[in-house]
Amino acid sequence: MTLLVGLSGGIGSGKSTVSAQLASLGAVVVDADAVAREVVAPGTPALAQIRERFGPGVIAEDGSLDRPALAQEVFGDEGARRDLEGITHPRIRRRSAELIAAAPQDAVVVHDIPLLVELGLAADYALTVIVDVPETERLRRLVELRGMDEAAARARIRAQAGDAERAEAADVLLDNSTSPQDLHGRVGELWSHRLLPFRDNLQAGRPSHPGPVSPTTQVSDPVLARLLARVEAGVGEPVAPNSTAPTSDPLDLAGIMSDLHLLDDPRVRQRLARRGLLVQADENVTDVGRDTHAAGPTGRVIASADPALPVRLRLHGRENG
Ligand code: ADP
Repeated sequence: MTLLVGLSGGIGSGKSTVSAQLASLGAVVVDADAVAREVVAPGTPALAQIRERFGPGVIAEDGSLDRPALAQEVFGDEGARRDLEGITHPRIRRRSAELIAAAPQDAVVVHDIPLLVELGLAADYALTVIVDVPETERLRRLVELRGMDEAAARARIRAQAGDAERAEAADVLLDNSTSPQDLHGRVGELWSHRLLPFRDNLQAGRPSHPGPVSPTTQVSDPVLARLLARVEAGVGEPVAPNSTAPTSDPLDLAGIMSDLHLLDDPRVRQRLARRGLLVQADENVTDVGRDTHAAGPTGRVIASADPALPVRLRLHGRENG
């Protein structure tokens, strides 16, 4: 099982810098911008559909997509934008999934995707990494280092999610407000102390929390929210935190789901593993199968393989199967 990492950040945050370093460390990088260009390359069905919908004016002399012309067509026209996304997004998703699936089994795959937060995809990765730089500094770098027009840079920044929204989606907030050397150090640390052990845990089917954990470690609400979002995305149905179930250990969380047999479905297990989560037998429940009422213990836990998140989710619910 590969470890799938989502990498994002506002324009000018240093995303490309981070993904280049991760690639040099051995990650397989899937670049969403490159995929977006590939699916509309000359000769593709998507480009033909775009021509049909928007007219020959959006095709350049050499037969490639005239991006500025297309941008003019969809600017301020919600319907046109949706039509365009209807043509491109499914193909981008398909091609990205293909590239991710083609990575070696033991790879750390980094999906570099500018719109990760805007598209609400954080829960589809085992780990979401956001490169974080205050907006004013990003603007400065775009203008001074990348030579962008200031008004254009401001407009691009405004069109994206805000820093707070991005921070909320982040399992890892990678500070790039200081020097490139500092960033280099942080990325190296992330790679060797989190991504590699996370990948190794997943490969071995080993939770990061094999035994009792220190009761001093606490899980904050945003961390719990991100964990539950991943569990829900994996099982494909709502999972509620069960605050009434007594847990002696703060890292032993309790959740309720309606059909616990979903956890035995190999496809569900696969989707959970893709999100860094392992389904395990609950060693605390010895009398499995007797208490099958709603909110009874079930004999299964979902455990994270993330070394920085030694958490188990003990599930309660009805055995509907
Ligand atoms: P993104 O891919 O997120 O748009 P880039 O990686 O292209 O951002 O970074 C934007 C610009 O800032 C580039 O010119 C890059 O070299 C520069 N840069 C990246 N990190 C730093 C840093 N810590 N200090 C100064 N400049 C940086």
